Amino acid sequence: MDVVMHYLDTYVFDSIYNKAADLTSTAPLPRDSLVRQSLSLFVFIYAYIVAFYFGTAGLSYKLIYDKKQEQHPKFLPRQRFLEMACASRALPQITIMTIPWILGQLHGYSLVYKDWNKYGYTYLFVSAAAFILFTDFCIYWVHRLEHHPSVYAKCHKLHHKWIVCTPYASHAFHPMDGYLQSVPYHLAVYVFPMHEYVYLALFAFVNVWSVMIHDGEYVSNNPVVNGAAHHTVHHLYFNYNYGQFTTLFDRVFNTYRKPSQEVYDRSRRNSKRVQDEQAKRIDDALPSLETTSDSSSSSSKKTQ
Ligand SMILES: [Zn+2]
Ligand SMILES: [Zn+2]
Repeated sequence: MDVVMHYLDTYVFDSIYNKAADLTSTAPLPRDSLVRQSLSLFVFIYAYIVAFYFGTAGLSYKLIYDKKQEQHPKFLPRQRFLEMACASRALPQITIMTIPWILGQLHGYSLVYKDWNKYGYTYLFVSAAAFILFTDFCIYWVHRLEHHPSVYAKCHKLHHKWIVCTPYASHAFHPMDGYLQSVPYHLAVYVFPMHEYVYLALFAFVNVWSVMIHDGEYVSNNPVVNGAAHHTVHHLYFNYNYGQFTTLFDRVFNTYRKPSQEVYDRSRRNSKRVQDEQAKRIDDALPSLETTSDSSSSSSKKTQ
């Protein structure tokens, strides 16, 4: 992140802080000031995540999303705009909670490194794979614990308002929910070393992936990849498929549910019969799902 901050300071922030110092007749804040870094990080991270969210989800909605899903009986009136409003309310708070992690990186407390040769080129791929597996494992448990009844209503229920999602649901969370699910991405570079560019690239990738698993276009029928079909099962039936990138930990911890074949076929999944059946199963299961525990609940198993 310090390479990003270097360019931002040079081309954007130096002149802004110098002008602010002139206007207030004070000395400009130095680049290593915690106050200046926190302010600059808020502006940069917020601008980045807003542009990334609306850009990626907007493109996905326009080019990929199957809009016939908006006819599903569980699709809410004006849902796309409700998702955007929800994300817009959450993103400033998530940004503020993210700043300490990035400050830690800027001040050398993380294991991010710059020299491509420090651990060799093979390690670049090893660290990328480790990042996916580590964050997938952590998000699995964060997400699964968020389904515990003692926290579900306060923290995660808002994201499950979207039973049939659009790509804009990807960041439409309660702020604490969005933050907790992002913690593993920040924590990873405090656990094992990563090259700064590999880390930045993967950070962009995870944001795109969040949009992709909500875009309703079930391209991947791979049993290992946790694609949109798997995450749709999570939104429809709640206590399955908690993973983010792979189905590995859902299989290991017995919460995997295979998407039915009809979701990969546009005409079948958009048929009124299939959608009405899904809506009925949700209506039958919803009261018990929202008041009992996660996948260990026997009532939730009835939805299979
Ligand atoms: Zn969930
Ligand atoms: Zn989701």
